[in-house]
Amino acid sequence: MKNYIGGAFRDTTEHFDTLNPATSQPIDSVPRSGPDEVHQAAQAALQAAPDWAASSVEERACWLERVASAIEERIDELAQLESQDQGKPVWLARHVDIPRAVDNFRFFAGAVRQHHDGVHRMPGALNYTARAPIGVVGLITPWNLPLYLLTWKLAPALAMGNTVVAKPSELTPCTANALAEIFDAIGAPAGIFNLVHGYGGEVGQAILEHPDIRAISFTGGTATGRTVARTAAPLFKKLSLELGGKNATVVFDDCELEATLEGALRAGFANQGEICLCGSRLLLQRGIAEAFLPEFIRRATALKVGDPAAPDTRIGALNSQAHRDKVESYLRLAVDEGGTVHGGDRPQLPAPFQDGAFLAPAVVTGLSARCRTATEEIFGPVVTVHLFDTEEEAVAMANDTEYGLAASVWTSDLSRAHRVSEALQVGMVWVNTWLRRDLRVPFGGVKNSGVGREGGHHSLEFYSESKNICIKL
Ligand code: NAP
Repeated sequence: MKNYIGGAFRDTTEHFDTLNPATSQPIDSVPRSGPDEVHQAAQAALQAAPDWAASSVEERACWLERVASAIEERIDELAQLESQDQGKPVWLARHVDIPRAVDNFRFFAGAVRQHHDGVHRMPGALNYTARAPIGVVGLITPWNLPLYLLTWKLAPALAMGNTVVAKPSELTPCTANALAEIFDAIGAPAGIFNLVHGYGGEVGQAILEHPDIRAISFTGGTATGRTVARTAAPLFKKLSLELGGKNATVVFDDCELEATLEGALRAGFANQGEICLCGSRLLLQRGIAEAFLPEFIRRATALKVGDPAAPDTRIGALNSQAHRDKVESYLRLAVDEGGTVHGGDRPQLPAPFQDGAFLAPAVVTGLSARCRTATEEIFGPVVTVHLFDTEEEAVAMANDTEYGLAASVWTSDLSRAHRVSEALQVGMVWVNTWLRRDLRVPFGGVKNSGVGREGGHHSLEFYSESKNICIKL
């Protein structure tokens, strides 16, 4: 693959391989770019910015819709590609990741058409808010939901008249590359979407530092988020940070047992547990533990691990060998911290998956809710279980972490659902469900899970600057 800069595919001298984590075999060769390529991309974006910003909302919305339709036409191929590059089951990419990329473009085409600004009348004067694009924005995205998260940022950025320099994770560049091919194939204006491949410390850092890139939307880990904030803040760049999570699934005695078991299982292990919103801490009220826990462990350890293309596979490969090593180190730590690990083995799989980064789901019991395994983000198929007696105890336990992204609450008591939801220090709560997403709602976290909100008009506002104009009447 090549970089996509100013509407042309351009190569670099150095490359690295991107691997299929299910087989550990290379699937493509990726440009190893650096500050020069970022500079070229920023210049191309800067050059395209005035015309794109001057185009009408309708024109931009129509381009977004064309991109959506072109993704939809390649949906099966893109789902295969995402699965090969990321490790997730093909059916998951086919039903979640790629359709969501289509929805992101269609949704923001509609949202920008409806977007309007305020008018404030006062005696003798009228104020109105004018919204303008920021200019060139930098988008840096992680490896867990590659196309889904890139398009979640790209669609609103373009809708508001910005031009973009984007960097996908070095581990999952394939669908971003396919998206550049789509922009090229439909004849989208050159320079509105520039894609620079490479390593985070090289390309990502150069995007953060480039003076012509005026805003950064970053999704990734909390530690990298600190670097992003430290670099971008003194340059006064507008910043959106969507970071890590250690989310609680809070299960009360009065929950609906079957729905909660399935919900907690999905929250714990969807996408191999590699979703920032995954419920990796299962807080169980003591009265239901006996009925819930053995069944939860039984179902978790029975989830089928293996060939990502098989329709009945629930757990594909983790994203890399290095990531599996990290997850396994937490399973060893869990034992050192006094826990019992149920599952969590490397499955023996037939060729071509014998060297893939597979790991069976793990449920860890017997740990303190304060230990490292229970408070640090593992970002894999690992759920720790903790018992509580009272509602207050559940809330205190759920809040006792540096993170504050999301939580789910499972109860049939509506008043309790409201009380607990409001007491949880997170950006998003689901009650009796998990990861049900409406693209209009605010998305983001508190504490070390991030700064700012994206979604609906929050995204449109982030990707623009407002100016008040006061006219004396
Ligand atoms: P990561 O290591 O922080 O990487 C995220 C992105 O930042 C990648 O593109 C990475 O490039 C790049 N990067 C690395 N160092 C950089 C630097 N110095 N300057 C600029 N960019 C740099 O995160 P990850 O491991 O890919 O993703 C997993 C994390 O993302 C988890 O913590 C998860 O919770 C979080 N996440 C959060 C959300 C949310 O909405 N809150 C959603 C999804 C994931 P390379 O990959 O090339 O190093």
